[in-house]
Parts: sequence; C-alpha cells; structure tokens
Amino acid sequence: MHVVPLPALADNYIWLLHDDSGHAVVVDPGDAFPVETALKARGLVLGAILLTHHHHDHIGGVDGLLSHHDVPVYAPRDERIGRATHRVDDGDIVTLDAPAARFEVIAVPGHTTSHIAYAGEGVLLCGDTLFSMGCGRLFEGTPAQMLSSLDRLAALPGNTLVCCAHEYTAANGRFAQTIEPSNRALATRQHEVSALRAHNRPTLPVSLATEQATNPFLRTDSEEVIAWSRRQGIDGDRVARFAALRANKDVFTG
Ligand SMILES: [Zn+2]
Repeated sequence: MHVVPLPALADNYIWLLHDDSGHAVVVDPGDAFPVETALKARGLVLGAILLTHHHHDHIGGVDGLLSHHDVPVYAPRDERIGRATHRVDDGDIVTLDAPAARFEVIAVPGHTTSHIAYAGEGVLLCGDTLFSMGCGRLFEGTPAQMLSSLDRLAALPGNTLVCCAHEYTAANGRFAQTIEPSNRALATRQHEVSALRAHNRPTLPVSLATEQATNPFLRTDSEEVIAWSRRQGIDGDRVARFAALRANKDVFTG
C-alpha cells in the first residue's frame, strides 16, 4: 500500500492510501479539491472514505467527494458527522475490497469524545489524537482519557507508520526539547524535521518507535519528564504528569 500525505487547508494532511492496481482510500478529507487533484494525477479510483472525528477540517470535503464518487464512508457514532454509510466503534474491523485492506478501529477519546483511530496495513490513522512529538488538544475529554487513548496507540508495533492529520511537528519538537533537553533521539529527530521543513517537505509519516523515543506525551514515565514535573510542583502519578504537559503545551509559544 502506498501512503501519501496530501497537504490541505492551513496545515492539515489528508491521507491517501492506494494499491498498485489504482484503488484508493482517503482519510479525513477536510477539502475535496486536493483529493480530486491527486486521484486524477495518479490515475486512481476512490474506493472508500474513513473519518476519525467530527471537526470540519476533517470532514468538510465529504459531500463534495460523494457527489462524484459513490463510495462507503466509515465514521464514529456521532451525529455531528452527517454523512456516513458505516458507523464503527472500538474493536470493529473495517474490511475493504478495493483497495484490499483491513483496519482495526480503536476508540481514542480525548481530543473529542467520539474520536476513533484506524490501525492496519502497517499504518496508524490517528486524526488529531497523536501528533509527531505531540498530541491533540483536550477539547472534550479528560487527561486520563487521552493518556489511556495514547497508551493504546503506543502499544502498536514500533514499525507502524503514524499518519497524523496536521503538520505540527516542528513546534511540537521545540516544546518537547524544553521537557527533555537531554533526549538525544529527540534532538536528532528535531534536526531532521528542521531540514525537511526548510524544503517544505512533510515530516510524516513517522514510525511509532521514533514517537516512543521522542514524544513527551508517550514518555510520562521517563526520568526527564518526571524531573520536569517535580520542578512544576507536581508529585502525582503519570496522569498528573500528562495533564501538566498538556496544560503547558497549550500556552507554549516558542
Ligand atoms: Zn480535531
């Protein structure tokens, strides 16, 4: 399966997955135009749409795509998403014929209450839950929910390619380096990210193993994160450390 990030809107990626026979699936099409352009340029036939959550920058292109393509739309059970043919929830399996693909649905509440992720074919389609070196804002869920969601994603195989829905990597990395300044894997990754962004190239997908080594939100038990938390006056458990990380990132402007 080919895995292609399509830049869309301000800083979104719509993920396009396609096989060698020209069948494609798109994930979170916030805008139909870049999808139509990519399908035409690559000679692909759209086979399905997958949605992770209800935010407009993830679903805004669905109506436009459905006016030209009669395809199934998989989405979480949330009435804020109007157009869906298949409602899926935690533990469901999405099986597609063209492209031939199989994804497990993982409920990941936190950014929104009904957010889901799709894992399969060597990739993780995680919407706004896991970002490279960061995670989504807690608009509807609690820190405990989000940490539990991230724990489930972090338990996938390390060679899984993480397909995040925004290009937030460079800013996330700058924040991460304030938390774990001695993390060499993080410094290496941030160096690579700077070079990619200097050429306006995507920093994604990224392996889950790299995230486990560099993302402070997956590293609440690391010595540096624990030490940072103590300096913030937090001597609680990893949920408290996660909540402090998220609250500090919310106001980080570096
Ligand atoms: Zn969102």
